[in-house]
Amino acid sequence: MNLYNIKDNSEQVSFAQAVRQGLGREQGLFFPEQLEPLADVDALLDLPLAERSARILSHLLGDEVPAAKVSELINAAFTFPAPLVKLKDGTYALELFHGPTLAFKDFGGRFMAQCLAAFRTNDKITILTATSGDTGAAVAHAFYGLEGIEVVILYPKGKISPLQEKLFCTLGGNIRTIAIDGDFDACQALVKQAFDDEALKKAIGLNSANSINISRLLAQVCYYFEAVAQLPKADRAKAVISVPSGNFGNLTAGLIAKALGLPVKRFIAATNANDTVPRYLKTGQWEPHQTVATLSNAMDVSRPNNWPRVEELCRRKGWALETLGSGMRDDAQTRAALKRLHQLDYLCEPHGAIAWDLLSEQLAEDEVGVFLCTAHPAKFKESVDEILNLDVPLPGPLAKHAELPLLSVNLPAEFARLRAFLVG
Ligand SMILES: *Cc1c(COP(=O)(O)O)cnc(C)c1O
Repeated sequence: MNLYNIKDNSEQVSFAQAVRQGLGREQGLFFPEQLEPLADVDALLDLPLAERSARILSHLLGDEVPAAKVSELINAAFTFPAPLVKLKDGTYALELFHGPTLAFKDFGGRFMAQCLAAFRTNDKITILTATSGDTGAAVAHAFYGLEGIEVVILYPKGKISPLQEKLFCTLGGNIRTIAIDGDFDACQALVKQAFDDEALKKAIGLNSANSINISRLLAQVCYYFEAVAQLPKADRAKAVISVPSGNFGNLTAGLIAKALGLPVKRFIAATNANDTVPRYLKTGQWEPHQTVATLSNAMDVSRPNNWPRVEELCRRKGWALETLGSGMRDDAQTRAALKRLHQLDYLCEPHGAIAWDLLSEQLAEDEVGVFLCTAHPAKFKESVDEILNLDVPLPGPLAKHAELPLLSVNLPAEFARLRAFLVG
């Protein structure tokens, strides 16, 4: 598989290089050169998740990785299902939260960890990533105990849920976590600075593990096929998929699935009040505001770092950006949506509720809607309990971590301090 840097097409890398490197020159994102449609999508849709996913990834990776190796990586990463749950006629929830950290980021995080371990040279690797909540947990658990790989995770202090924090800041071992005095964008900026520091990069074998790593996106392509595979056959060509979006990795993966021939009619980019993209799609002006904290904190991102990939793909496929549906929901609307979902007998959490609410608004009569449920309701227990007046039980893994002490260190949002920590 060949990939090129979106900012500088002359920089070309293999899949293994892109996985190890994360970002290209000038912080450019890597993008696959070939996105040929799959030969027989209908036959693929009849296969079980792991087998189908291995074929999709083999198609993408080409000669670079033998098919048997791809199967091995997928089987180690995809150890849990992605069920499509019927909400009512014509509306379905794709539950992506049945993995070990109860969020969809387990798919990408676990596949990336397997890839890095498989393509690792003997040098030391340090994974450095910023998280607004769930990436951290997924990355920490995916890499925990993997030999030769150190993990450092930055997160905005006090701006993620206490349970989210417990889930990835209690592991120890090869996992170190830093609470930064600042918001998620500040954490992301620190990570970018570290990647710009060539000496540091060499010294500690820096590698990024957030949604900019291409392996995560390719893994996420697979569950869009899984969603369509579970729809009644007659409905497959009518599917509209609503994606709760923060950094827009999830939506990029959906668009790649469509480019590979998955019959999705259209997508809806659903955001919270951090609505840079919906405003951009309406006005043509890219005007990020200051990031604001919301109930759906994993989407509190005002400068989504995967957006250039969305534009690149649309440009290459000749898809007009305006064909992308979009919209935002503020916290009051999110609360109301969560309550209405509960009345329909579906227990959701803020991110999924936003995707559902925009889907309900924008779905036409002759369409079938799927909204992505990106986290288990218990991961946002504080808000879900309060809004619905419930006591959502903690599933096993969360209950266990909630008991353990936090091991994070605290740092100001200053690059010099982070650098000293990393080399020290
Ligand atoms: C990360 C996350 C999102 C946003 O996904 P992106 O790929 O960054 O757009 C949505 N919901 C939850 C629960 C998340 O953790």
